[in-house]
Amino acid sequence: MNTVTNGSAPSGDGAAADELDVVIVGAGFSGMYMLYRLRKLGLKSRVFDRATGVGGTWYWNRYPGARCDVESMQYSYSFSQELQQEWRWSEKFSAQPEILDYANHVADRFDLRSDMQFETSIESAHFDEIANRWIVKTDRGEEFKPRYCVMATGCLSSARVPDFPGLKDFSGKTYHTGHWPHEGVDFTGKRVAVIGTGSSAIQAIPVIAEQASHLSVFQRTPNYSIPSRNGPMTDDYEQSWKRDYEAHRADARQTKNGILANPNDQSAIETSADERREVYEQRWADGGTRFMASFNDLATNAESNDTAAEFVREKIRAIVKDTDAAELLAAKDYPIGTKRICVDTRYFETYNLEHVDLIDVRGAPVEHLTQDGLRQGGKDYAFDAIVFATGFDAMTGTLARIDIRGRGGRALKQEWEAGPKTYLGMMSAGFPNMFMVTGPQSPSVLSNMMVSIEQHIDWMADCIGHMETSGHAVIEARPEAQDAWIEHSTEIAYTTLYPKAASWYMGANIPGKPRVFLPYIGGVGRYRAKCDEIAAAGYEGFQLQ
Ligand code: NAP
Repeated sequence: MNTVTNGSAPSGDGAAADELDVVIVGAGFSGMYMLYRLRKLGLKSRVFDRATGVGGTWYWNRYPGARCDVESMQYSYSFSQELQQEWRWSEKFSAQPEILDYANHVADRFDLRSDMQFETSIESAHFDEIANRWIVKTDRGEEFKPRYCVMATGCLSSARVPDFPGLKDFSGKTYHTGHWPHEGVDFTGKRVAVIGTGSSAIQAIPVIAEQASHLSVFQRTPNYSIPSRNGPMTDDYEQSWKRDYEAHRADARQTKNGILANPNDQSAIETSADERREVYEQRWADGGTRFMASFNDLATNAESNDTAAEFVREKIRAIVKDTDAAELLAAKDYPIGTKRICVDTRYFETYNLEHVDLIDVRGAPVEHLTQDGLRQGGKDYAFDAIVFATGFDAMTGTLARIDIRGRGGRALKQEWEAGPKTYLGMMSAGFPNMFMVTGPQSPSVLSNMMVSIEQHIDWMADCIGHMETSGHAVIEARPEAQDAWIEHSTEIAYTTLYPKAASWYMGANIPGKPRVFLPYIGGVGRYRAKCDEIAAAGYEGFQLQ
């Protein structure tokens, strides 16, 4: 019998604790849609989240300038025709507050909150092999025994602050972009440091610079960034999507990364220099990640890739007036796109402002924090606030923080010590009835997350529905199918230039993390076909009991 041993649920009283079929961890876009689908199967599910509300990544990442780099007409749910027709985005690339409003709207519209429990962390999940149930414990002292566990924990949800000595000595304020205060931060008149120049920093820096009296950016590795060309949503543009939304969504599902980007099927090096330039100029003018679809071989051919990289470097040199700063900002030692391409609004222009400095920490790292600021390169800097835009323990970090034990009491963390082991990025052998949404070795972060989330949830819900109707109690990945999938996923990654960059895709940002390419790079269309084929073949590679 399941029991609630302590604490009261802040919400989520729709299903009694001892009746849960499914525990869903995470109330972001994955967890919300999973709940929606499971309800339709008549299963009693509860979503848990440590936050006070829905939204996942959009709940936490409230830093100034936060917005999605996938256009909102594409970064939104497609599962409800009414929802996609009625919701109106105000901008082409919506900002975090609007995306969070959308998440809240979805929660209300589909009455999801009654099966959600907030301010609750899942601390452990142990599989009981006799009862074929998971024993799930929360930090509120509760215990649940669902038949299934769905880890909808997000790919970038474990924020990381480097272990700088003296962190506690600093008397000013510190912030991490992924844990931004809900009330916002007013930097007016403040001396601010930003450490890091990834996507989050690139969005935050221009906005912080508008307020701060002085802004120092500490850069280790420069990033390639493309102007977003964001702007208000126009009726014409909105209608061009909504008129035929279903067809557009269907097309997006068959693409490489779930985004309709009008890819050019020509090779960069087989195109004349003049024509190539024209293509890049047009894509630069259009803005956004579509720049990477300028040619068909930018991800696979180093020479082709360098034509795009050099084009962006030239743009940076043309924008940034200080030639030393421009050279520092121009990435040179990894192919463009192999670290997540950034999308910005006046990022490089910000370095032309008198009160903004760029400090290169590649050869001379931040030594330690001091009471007044930090010491770097033998020099002391004074700040009122330090912003860590230092990223996340991506894709595996959040799962590793939960004490997950499968068959024989084996810990997931240990099983994955040399790198994650999954079948299709959805299940791991030895961990029956535990699904991971957008897990490692699935397209996830290399795609429009909304497309990948919906695909995973639909597949998982169908799979659970199949289990229910066919009278199976347990589904589990077969080790040999898992090994083959890992090999396939790794092999494809090494046909591309991606492994050449020390990126978080490779686990390279976390000391001691194994260097393996985490997402599946074979493309969302191809991946979907494979998943569907496996399901149609009676869940080939899985063992059903
Ligand atoms: P990130 O890409 O991992 O960037 C972290 C930055 O911190 C890097 O510049 C890194 O330098 C630097 N850093 C880390 N430790 C450091 C140290 N000890 N000293 C100096 N610098 C240090 O993290 P992020 O910017 O938060 O972005 C993570 C991902 O979230 C993105 O790639 C993207 O997928 C997603 N995201 C998306 C959006 C969007 O949709 N627009 C916005 C924000 C984030 P190194 O490169 O040298 O390690």
